[in-house]
Amino acid sequence: MPISSELSIKQDFPQLEQQKQALFRHWKNSGLISSDSLLEAFLAVPRELFVAPDFVEHSYADRPLPIDSGQTISQPTTVMLMLQLLEVLPGQRVLEIGSGSGYNAALLAKLAMLTGTVVTLERHMELVEQARENLKLAGLQNVVVIAGDGKQGHARLAPYDRIIVTAAASQVPQDLKEQLAVGGLLVAPVGATYGCEMLKLCKTSADHFQISSHGLFSFVPLV
Ligand code: SAH
Repeated sequence: MPISSELSIKQDFPQLEQQKQALFRHWKNSGLISSDSLLEAFLAVPRELFVAPDFVEHSYADRPLPIDSGQTISQPTTVMLMLQLLEVLPGQRVLEIGSGSGYNAALLAKLAMLTGTVVTLERHMELVEQARENLKLAGLQNVVVIAGDGKQGHARLAPYDRIIVTAAASQVPQDLKEQLAVGGLLVAPVGATYGCEMLKLCKTSADHFQISSHGLFSFVPLV
C-alpha cells in the first residue's frame, strides 16, 4: 500500500476537512455523541491516513470502507457509538480485538492518553503491518499491535480496564471475560454478521457481569 503523508492528502483532497466538520456537527448537534473527549479524539485523528488509497476521498462518508484481506474499516458513527459505550478514561489499559486499519485503536489511544496503553490484536498479518504503519504516521505511540487470535485475548498484559471487540462473535469469548478487570467494561457485537446486537458488559465481580443491549449493527465475523 503506498504511503501518503497527511500533508499531501490535505493538498490533494481539500474538501476532507469540511466533510469531517460536517460529521462532527451532526453528532454534536443531534446529541448522538455527547462525550466531549470522544469528539475531540475524532477531530484529532486523521481518518484519511487509515483508509485504503482508493477510498481517501470517502474518508468522512458515514459508511464502512473496504480495507485489505477482505475486511472493512467500520462506519464512523458505529465507531463513535461503540466508543461512547466503552467510556475510556485517561490512564486506562485497553484491549481491542480486530485492529483492521488501526483507526479505532488510534481513537482509543487518544482517549487513554499517553498514561494509558492500547493493545490491539489482529489475525491478518497484512493488516497488522498496515495498522502499525498507519498508527506511526498518525504519530500515536501508546498502541501495541499484536498478531494473533483475538478470541484468546492477550493474557500477558491483563487485566484490562476496557475491552472492545470490532468483529461479530456468536458469544463473548470466555478468555476476554476473564481478562477484564473487576469494574471494567467490555463492548462487543454479538450474533450474525447482519443484525448483531451491541452488548455492553460491566464486570461486577470475578464471575458476574451486568449486560445491557444497545441496538443492531452489521460487522465482519470474528473467526
Ligand atoms: N477496528 C478496525 C476494523 C475492524 S474489522 C478498524 O478500526 O479499522 C474487524 C477486524 O477483525 C478485521 O481486521 C479482522 O481480520 C479481525 N478479526 C476477525 N477475527 C479475528 C480474530 N479471531 N482475531 C483477531 N482479529 C480478528
